[in-house]
Amino acid sequence: MRKTLLLAVCLFLLSSASRSYVLMGTRWPEAAATIHPMLVLLGEERSPSGDRWIDAFREAAQEWNSKTAFDFEIDTARPSHPCAGILSKYPEDGYRNGAAFTSVICTTDAWGNPEITSFGAGTLGLTMTYSEFGDTRTTTETDIFFNEREEWDIYDGPERRAADFRRVALHELGHVLGLDHERRETAIMAPYVGDLYHLQQDDIAGAAALYGSTVPDGVPPIVLAVEEPAENGIKSGISTFRGWVVSLHELASLSLYLDGKYKGELQHEASRKDVARAYPEYPDPERSGFAFAFAYGGLSAGSHRYRLVARDAMGNELERTVNFRVVRFATGYLKDDSRVSVDSARLSGEGNEILIDGMEHDGGLYRLRLRSMSLT
Ligand SMILES: [Zn+2]
Repeated sequence: MRKTLLLAVCLFLLSSASRSYVLMGTRWPEAAATIHPMLVLLGEERSPSGDRWIDAFREAAQEWNSKTAFDFEIDTARPSHPCAGILSKYPEDGYRNGAAFTSVICTTDAWGNPEITSFGAGTLGLTMTYSEFGDTRTTTETDIFFNEREEWDIYDGPERRAADFRRVALHELGHVLGLDHERRETAIMAPYVGDLYHLQQDDIAGAAALYGSTVPDGVPPIVLAVEEPAENGIKSGISTFRGWVVSLHELASLSLYLDGKYKGELQHEASRKDVARAYPEYPDPERSGFAFAFAYGGLSAGSHRYRLVARDAMGNELERTVNFRVVRFATGYLKDDSRVSVDSARLSGEGNEILIDGMEHDGGLYRLRLRSMSLT
C-alpha cells in the first residue's frame, strides 16, 4: 500500500502536544468557520465513481459538525481560490477560506510577499493557516490545497490506488480546526492517509480540547473526585491518594496542596473505564484517573487536609478538600510482630472491609479496618 503524505503547514506554528491529539497552537475565536470551496478537478465536477467533489467535501464538513462542537459552513455561492490575492488571475477576497484542486501552493511570507511552491512528492493535500501579528493563537484564515496532479476518487473502505477525496478533506478540515498530525493514536489526523475514513475518538477529543464538546448547557465544565483518603478517614503507614477528573475543555493544571503547602501537579492518565461509562459526554474520560502512594507515616499524628484544584484552559476552576487523621501506634508500627496478638480479637467482614477489633500490640488495644480496593 502506498503511503501518501498529508502535509500541514501552519504559519506561526506553536506546537503543543497534549494527551494524544496534537494541537497546532491556533484556534478560531468562535467554534465556527465558513469555507468557500471551488472543487473542480481538471474541468470535472464529478469523481470517476460519479460523486461530486463538492458533495464529498460537504459530507466531510458535516461529519466534523455532527461529532464536535465546531460548525463548518460551506458557501459555494462565493467560491474562493486558495491562491486569491497571490496569483493575479484570482482577485483578492479578503480573509475568505478557500479550498481547491491546485498544481501549486500559494502563500505569503512574513512580509506579505507572494510565495509559490510545488507539492512535495506524494503530498495529497495541504492546509495553510494564517494568524495576525500580535495574536498568533487566533486563526484568521485557512486555505486548503488538494494536489490536482494526484489520482483522486471518492469511496469508503480500504485505501485504493486513487486517493479518497472525502477522507483527505476530513483530514484537512481537522487542520482548519487547529489540529496537527497525530502519530501515536489511531486518528484521521495521522500524517499518512490509510484505511480510516471516519473521525476517530482521538480526533474528536482534540476538537473538544479546542472548542469544548457537544454536551448540552448546564453540564459542569469540570467534575473532580478524590476517592482516597475518604473525608474524615484515618490513615497510617503507606496508603494511596486517588481519584479522577474529567473536563470539557483541556485541563491546564491539577494542583495538589497538603496542609496549605503546594505539593505538585498530578497526572491524570490512569485508565478509568467506570468513569468513561458514567461521563461519556466528556472528552477522553477513559484516561481520567490519578493515583499515587503516600507515606502517611511521615506526617505528624492528628488532623491534616488535602486540597486539589483543577483549572481548565478556559479559566474554569474546581477544588476538592479532604480532611483526614493520621494515627500512629504508640511504639512504632509493628516493630516486633511477636508483640502482636489477635487471640482475643473479634473478626468481622462486610463488603470490601475486614474489621479486627481488639488486636493487642505492646500493651495497647487496637481496632483495625482492612479495606480492599481496586485501581482499575
Ligand atoms: Zn495533514
